Amino acid sequence: MMDITSLSASRLAEAVKNGEVAAEAAAKAYFDRIEKLEPTIKAFLAVAKDSALDQARLLDRNRKNGEKLGALAGVPVALKDNLQLKGVETTCGSKMLKGHIAAYDATVTERLKKADAVIVGKTNLDEFAMGSSTENSAFQKTTNPWDPACVPGGSSGGSAAAAAARLCAFSLGSDTGGSIRQPAAFCGVVGLKPTYGLVSRYGLVAFASSLDQIGPFTRTVEDAALALSVIGGHDPLDSTSAVNAPPAVSPAPKDLKGLRIGLPKEYFIDGLDPEVEKSVRGAVEVFKSLGASVVEVSLPHTKYAIASYYIIAPSEASSNLARFDGVRYGFVDRSASTLEEVYEFTRGAGFGPEVKRRIMLGTYALSAGYYDAYYSKAQRVRTLMARDFKEAFKDVDVIVAPTTPTPAFRFGEKTADPVAMYLSDVFTIPSNMAGNASLSLPCGLSAKGLPLGVQLIADVFQEERLLSVARAFEAAKPFPRLAY
Ligand code: GLN
Repeated sequence: MMDITSLSASRLAEAVKNGEVAAEAAAKAYFDRIEKLEPTIKAFLAVAKDSALDQARLLDRNRKNGEKLGALAGVPVALKDNLQLKGVETTCGSKMLKGHIAAYDATVTERLKKADAVIVGKTNLDEFAMGSSTENSAFQKTTNPWDPACVPGGSSGGSAAAAAARLCAFSLGSDTGGSIRQPAAFCGVVGLKPTYGLVSRYGLVAFASSLDQIGPFTRTVEDAALALSVIGGHDPLDSTSAVNAPPAVSPAPKDLKGLRIGLPKEYFIDGLDPEVEKSVRGAVEVFKSLGASVVEVSLPHTKYAIASYYIIAPSEASSNLARFDGVRYGFVDRSASTLEEVYEFTRGAGFGPEVKRRIMLGTYALSAGYYDAYYSKAQRVRTLMARDFKEAFKDVDVIVAPTTPTPAFRFGEKTADPVAMYLSDVFTIPSNMAGNASLSLPCGLSAKGLPLGVQLIADVFQEERLLSVARAFEAAKPFPRLAY
């Protein structure tokens, strides 16, 4: 019998379209795995089994009636729980939104549905996408499918774990400072952060609006390209949406002759885990063997990435999260007796400690007298970081770097020290600051059997090139596979 959950999303869609596999059988195969593995992995905050099976049966009927099915025919997809799925709770991993039912679909949700994907559920995340381990979720701890003692990364830890453990064919997450690429590296899957503006943010609960991007977690690069081709492209409902269309899915190139790769010297530093360094350098050898040339490049403002991100992101978050006031959405503290108390008690009890820390940081950085010293200065540093990339992309086509300084860490290892947690994103934040395209690919396993990731970064709207280079790599060095 065919093992449906081992098929790629692309292959499954094809099989459903030509009648080899029924969409209902595909959905059932995934729900069987969810039932078996979810008690340990805990990737989902909500599983939408009934609606998914109904949707799958409808697709099968439509196909029998001669209808042409969409690009994701019968493909089970999971959504990070900060993406709106109409009629289902959107909690953002926060007590604040417990009970909040989405009144509409996010643009990405709508596009997935239109392509005949089957939505299987909503995945766990760090509260309001703030964190690097998913330990900041108000509800549960998601474990890493490769080692249950380790975190899956974050903030899209549930989506990364679900894609890795084959609890869905692929999933969507959001990346503000690394929240797709870092958990993708920790869980051994492909994680794509598209260029800012390529994917509509309509229906994504905003964290830091100038940095947030939605992207897919997949088990193959082709699937990342397929997912992007469905969710990407202009959307009038998002004023920052670009006019650019996403690239069409194209075949893997035979070689990478003529490709110029840059290794940023600021990314190969003290504190980079030797196993991570070794596997990234191994990946570079693969690129060379495919015909690419490699030079060193410099991104001199990398050292300011974390400091400036932790001004900009909290500033935007403090403004975005002001809407959670106990009146409009979800949770309200009923012991309040005045309006002021409604705000105070609701926000006091509804938000967790990391979210409060960010709101305080951001409110301080934006206050009169400090705005110039902090926020405006951080924005200027951001421009310098974007210029670093522009300079480097004059000489190279793609930058190759580690995704994370270390492999997945253990639960509790970094919770006592927020700054240690923040450092997990030192290599991913620069791409959000510059708004360019980047992805993480699995490039090996550590001695303890944990996945290691390599990051590829391309200039804005160079997704086609990025994905094509990644496909060549995947063909030359197949990704490690989970043993179960
Ligand atoms: N870990 C980073 C943070 O906590 C990035 C989160 C994200 O990309 N959503 O802000």
